[in-house]
Amino acid sequence: MRLAPVMRVLLAAVLGARLIAAHGADHASANGGEAGGSQSSGRANVLVISGTDAYLPAFEAINRAMQAALDERHSRPVAFLYEATDSGRVSGDPGPTFAEYLENKYRGTRIDAVVLTTELAADLYLEHRNRLWPDAPVILHSLPAADARRVPPHPGLVVLPTNWGVLGTLRIARRLQPDARRVTVVSGISRLDQRILDAARVDLERGALGIPVEFVVGQSPRTVEVRLAQDDRRSIVLYLSMFRDEHGGVHVPRDVLTRLSAASAAPIYGIFDTFVGHGLVAGEMESFAERGERVADLLVTALARPTASALVVPATRSRCVADARQLERYGLSPGLLPDGCDLRFVERPFVERYWWQSLLVAVALVVQSVLIALLLLQRRRRRAAELSLAAQRLQLAHASRLAVAGELTASIAHEINQPLGAILANAEAAELLVQSGRLERSELLQILADIRRDDVRASEVIRRLRAMLARHDVERRRFDLHALVEETSALVRTEASRRGVAIDCALGARHAEIFGDRVQLQQVLINLVLNAFDASAASAEGARHVTIETCDTADGVRMSVRDSGPGVAAADLPRLFDSYFSTKAGGMGLGLSIARSIVDAHGGTIAAANTGGGAVFVVELPRPPSDARPGRSGRSPP
Ligand code: ADP
Repeated sequence: MRLAPVMRVLLAAVLGARLIAAHGADHASANGGEAGGSQSSGRANVLVISGTDAYLPAFEAINRAMQAALDERHSRPVAFLYEATDSGRVSGDPGPTFAEYLENKYRGTRIDAVVLTTELAADLYLEHRNRLWPDAPVILHSLPAADARRVPPHPGLVVLPTNWGVLGTLRIARRLQPDARRVTVVSGISRLDQRILDAARVDLERGALGIPVEFVVGQSPRTVEVRLAQDDRRSIVLYLSMFRDEHGGVHVPRDVLTRLSAASAAPIYGIFDTFVGHGLVAGEMESFAERGERVADLLVTALARPTASALVVPATRSRCVADARQLERYGLSPGLLPDGCDLRFVERPFVERYWWQSLLVAVALVVQSVLIALLLLQRRRRRAAELSLAAQRLQLAHASRLAVAGELTASIAHEINQPLGAILANAEAAELLVQSGRLERSELLQILADIRRDDVRASEVIRRLRAMLARHDVERRRFDLHALVEETSALVRTEASRRGVAIDCALGARHAEIFGDRVQLQQVLINLVLNAFDASAASAEGARHVTIETCDTADGVRMSVRDSGPGVAAADLPRLFDSYFSTKAGGMGLGLSIARSIVDAHGGTIAAANTGGGAVFVVELPRPPSDARPGRSGRSPP
């Protein structure tokens, strides 16, 4: 406490006595007629005088809690009036002029109680109390316990001191950093800074930390920033406050802490509640909200019945508070904190923080998984259906070949009969020669050669037929299309002559090698040729021609079957390749549909057109890929 000189007290007393008289008169008139008078309206007016700036975060927190608690706990509504001396930061002394200012400002306003924040406010107010509101109870809070004992014992004065937990904070720091090599104490040089620093020095001496303590006092935040940046994790920084530096810079201590923390390589500890969350690692501190509630309680009591004498009540409890983010930043283990320490800013797990977003994503994932499963199931089913369809088509193709064979039976029988007849004739001739005894060796050899040739012819017919009729899986290999055309025309030649159709081949393609299933492509050709025979039947005998042509295309080979029939009706052209489309009596309508699926499976195209003198069916097949290798593709679609 600043001790007022004796002269000053006397002067104040004289002045005070005069002013009290004037004040009493004013007061009476104010209470009688002014609407702001608290008694008439039942409102209580509480004047709060802060020794620091009015917006200091700590005192804002205290005032907020005090107001809220008072609104709740006091029977009458309470109006708060705020004043700030700011003597915590600036060094000038407003002296009696401050009292005069208050007196003039609040003339006509009843003050029911006064709350003084810090001893700096007490210095100013209590000295002039008598000329202001001598009967209004006073609650003085936020001053060190040592100073509380020195406050003059005014009647109606209740003092709520504060315990700055410097020692407790350093103990926490030592727990977290047992290998720390030094303590750096940072402080400003304003009156309040000095008070806090003095109290800290006492505690530091008592604490016997066993490691050196350095004091960085009054330096500008920039200088301290640089210094802390060069520090390391084996240092403990105790940041007390910085209202003012020695260069005249005036600060809000919490803002200074934010700057220092951003730069500091060493963990920073502190003793004020409002610093947590602004770069402080941990500390032992009172809760400002709790202190505000205590002040509210004291006000409720004082407003009801002011104490006759001064009273010092116990300070609020200090406790450990830590910032989980700062602990993590400096690699300090929260497990080393004292039991019951209030650990703030703990990162909740992602799922907990974004629970509804996580839930949404989880639901989306489940829905997506179900959809994927359904799609896979559907794909499997479709694949199975495709395979079964392919198998059915293969069977159908085979059945169709059997049907073709049935159609060719007469011709085939004739074709086999011819060599068989020749063999028989040759055998009989040989027999006669043997019986006549005129057998010449060379003649017999000629007969035997003829028999063998005819036998080969007959077995060739049977081989071709068997090859066509065999039930087989799809087999892809390179083969010569011209050889296939010739073999097929040989197979149907007898049938052609039976029907009176002339069959020609004009094989103009220079690159007739293709890659695919020979039997299936032969089936395509036979279907087209037999259809051409059917169509040619409408023409007069002698005018029935079927021509099989080949030529090169840009990317493969083209094979056409041209006939001299009536052509395809324009209306039928679009439906020609549909399954079961037939214009023939007893026709199945499968030949062209099977042909198209075979050509499709070979990557080719098939189309029909009218030539004017009949129809032409054109099959285009691609050139074999350079890496085409023979292979079986099982029962894949033909
Ligand atoms: P089907 O021979 O059992 O009728 P296809 O699928 O082989 O079955 O032929 C379908 C239809 O296409 C035939 O009924 C016929 O009307 C027509 N068609 C096929 N080839 C020719 C052709 N060369 N000239 C005229 N019409 C044809």
